[in-house]
Amino acid sequence: MDKKRILVAFAHPDDESFGLGGLIAKYVADGVDVYYVCSTNGDVGTIPEHMQGQYNSIAELRLSELACASAKLGFTEVVKLGYKDSGMMGSDTSQDPSCSWYIWNNTPNIMIDRMVHEIRRIRPQVVITFNKYGAYGHPDHIAIQRATTQAFKLASDPNYMPDDLPPYTPQKLYYTNIPKRSLQLGIWLLRLRGQDPRRVGVNKDIDVLAILENCEPNHTKINIRDYLKIWDEASACHVSQGGGRRGIVPFWLRKLLGGHQSLTRVYPQPTRDIIDEYDLFEHVTI
Ligand SMILES: [Zn+2]
Repeated sequence: MDKKRILVAFAHPDDESFGLGGLIAKYVADGVDVYYVCSTNGDVGTIPEHMQGQYNSIAELRLSELACASAKLGFTEVVKLGYKDSGMMGSDTSQDPSCSWYIWNNTPNIMIDRMVHEIRRIRPQVVITFNKYGAYGHPDHIAIQRATTQAFKLASDPNYMPDDLPPYTPQKLYYTNIPKRSLQLGIWLLRLRGQDPRRVGVNKDIDVLAILENCEPNHTKINIRDYLKIWDEASACHVSQGGGRRGIVPFWLRKLLGGHQSLTRVYPQPTRDIIDEYDLFEHVTI
């Protein structure tokens, strides 16, 4: 029997922990090999004053935090595509020719080909990436989401990159998801605390109302109740991004989600938009 493998494709050192730490820890504990493809070095992230000067670059700091989180979560391998962080949509940094958003918009095949290669090399049965809105509209999130979705289809095509590794067909594609009701509750709580739901997070660049407008259906619900502690520990590694502190978005979102992780199943396409599975490996042939 083959091993169970999951490939998680996100954009920054911290997306894996803040977004999916509980689910990753759960599947690692179940004996699944979980791989993380991280498309950028997170080098546009903000660094608190007390941490400046300890590292040669922001990228070095962010990658050291990722190494810490990876050890907590138990990834089999972390693949760094090494693109520059694009910063927020419309910013000057998103026009840098080495950033993932610029590369996606000008030479998308560069990113698709690298993801096809990783899918063929890692041979995951299950692939997970962001939803179409890139969780909260971040250009790096959207770029890796699009590249991964294209690569998921192309990896099995023998005529695509025929000189690359042999074709491989992953069986399931998921997008991360926050249930509509949790978002509505979150917006209500933010307003109760006098906060603007359109300007949330350390950099005030997260629009929770837009997240709600772009919410996709929830088909899969995974119980991660026993893994909230590891999730916290992994998130705490990302000190420069507010990990381990109270009051930042990923933590209240995590608490609202409670003991479950929701996902949108993109492939095989569900016939109805209802929750109809409780394990990523349901109907997967190993
Ligand atoms: Zn991110």
